Amino acid sequence: TPTKEAAAAMPAPPPPSHFVIVPLVAQGHTIPMVDLARLLAERGARASLVTTPLNGARLRGVAEQAVRTNLSLEIVELPLPTDTDGGLPPGIENVDQVTDNGHFIPLFNTVQKLAGPLEAYLRALALRPSCIISDWCNAWTAGVARSLGIPRLFFHGPSCFYSLCDLNGIDHGLRELTAAADDQERFVVPGMPVHVEVTKATAPGFFNSPGWEALWTECVEAMRTADGAVVNTFVDLEGQFVSCYEAALGKPVWTLGPLCLSNRDVDAMASRGDTSSGGVQLQSVVAAWLDTKDTDSVVFVSFGSLARKLPKQLFEVGHGLEDSGRPFLWVVKEAEVAAAPEVQEWLGALEARTAGRGLVVRGWAPQLAILSHRAVGGFVTHCGWNSLLESVAHGVPVVTWPHFADQFLNERLVVDVLGVGAPVGVTAPVMVFDDENVAVARGDIVRAVSALMGEGEEADERRRKAKEYGEKAHVAMEKGGSSYENLTQLIESFRQCGGRKG
Ligand code: UDP
Repeated sequence: TPTKEAAAAMPAPPPPSHFVIVPLVAQGHTIPMVDLARLLAERGARASLVTTPLNGARLRGVAEQAVRTNLSLEIVELPLPTDTDGGLPPGIENVDQVTDNGHFIPLFNTVQKLAGPLEAYLRALALRPSCIISDWCNAWTAGVARSLGIPRLFFHGPSCFYSLCDLNGIDHGLRELTAAADDQERFVVPGMPVHVEVTKATAPGFFNSPGWEALWTECVEAMRTADGAVVNTFVDLEGQFVSCYEAALGKPVWTLGPLCLSNRDVDAMASRGDTSSGGVQLQSVVAAWLDTKDTDSVVFVSFGSLARKLPKQLFEVGHGLEDSGRPFLWVVKEAEVAAAPEVQEWLGALEARTAGRGLVVRGWAPQLAILSHRAVGGFVTHCGWNSLLESVAHGVPVVTWPHFADQFLNERLVVDVLGVGAPVGVTAPVMVFDDENVAVARGDIVRAVSALMGEGEEADERRRKAKEYGEKAHVAMEKGGSSYENLTQLIESFRQCGGRKG
């Protein structure tokens, strides 16, 4: 140990890198960025998560855990301006609270008004932060970063496979081509290292309905002017698409996932997303039920945080699970239960008929804890990237039932490239809610679940590959693994030279 005099003469250690993280106010976007913030703090950086008060309340568990474990992770709450745009009803601060399709754009426009408060918060800090990492949908952070001279990375939630299709599609006018095409026409996505075909319905797409053009343009522009991208994936899963994406983007792409593996105990897993909804208590009920089941025997069924099914669509899913004869754990959203009085009664009757074999969770489920349980052997998913990655990271193969946005291309990745998915067979997207079309009937569910959970070479191969990717995912996140080392490099490069990837 140096003497006091020698210590005083030593140069002060450089301050830790400080990352300001600005997620989009949607569960599928916030959850991985919270994992990222915690990981950064665990690795010695300072992380400030910027969100609104309602979303901050959902993260109370994360904040408390950070205090308990002495992590440099803080939640910064910036109130949403009250002069909301285009009649956003008061109290709506998250995409999952929206009940009217007409309220999405006003919510996005209102969130953009956080630019001023964010800039004020950053200016008031004693030291300039090292880097802003903001969701690619938060294009309004670009101007803030620019005016303060802070480097900015965009966080892109989907797979690099999707992101590459999307970027190549933009560069080659695929959006315009598919928009003008008829429904059956097939297009090859240009510049892909593998053959990928899309139709008008399955073409890459966020923000591609009328009214979203301005926001879409701003988001693409903000990606182009960023200093790089952070993605929730890992090299051993989709390395060829990561390199092609990095080349097409012309800037560093930091693969840091699967971020979900930063939740190392069941309490952390169960409080993910919304601590205020009693996830930890529910977790013990669900775990006790799963404990009674054979290894890899249960099919888990859940469609993310947004997609909402009407009663007639729910009933097809329920009948399909009943007819499959397999043990199942099915998540039905509170809003779906509340949509009609007969739903609750119908679910109760289903549970009675399948007692001991089926469990219906109503509301927000501890998904990550469920997928990590040894009894879960398959997952019927809407192909949101978080859900797919959480499944793959735990060696669980999937039935793919894409609903919208990036999900149809994520399906292509897991079915055609990775070989861990069995398609339910949908070919067209649905609206987030109030879509009358019953695209999937009970027979489709029975067929897909049997293909996934049954015997035979194809099913065995899917399971074998999923287990292999699960093992590789864990290796990626351990010391010496690709994502672990990329995170080290990210922290170091922003401390020393303003964000260059070595
Ligand atoms: N999730 C959860 N419980 C639920 C529903 C969703 O924990 O009942 C989590 C899920 O684990 C994932 C995220 O919410 O981390 C959903 O993200 P995804 O990209 O799969 O779909 P999105 O909600 O964006 O459509």
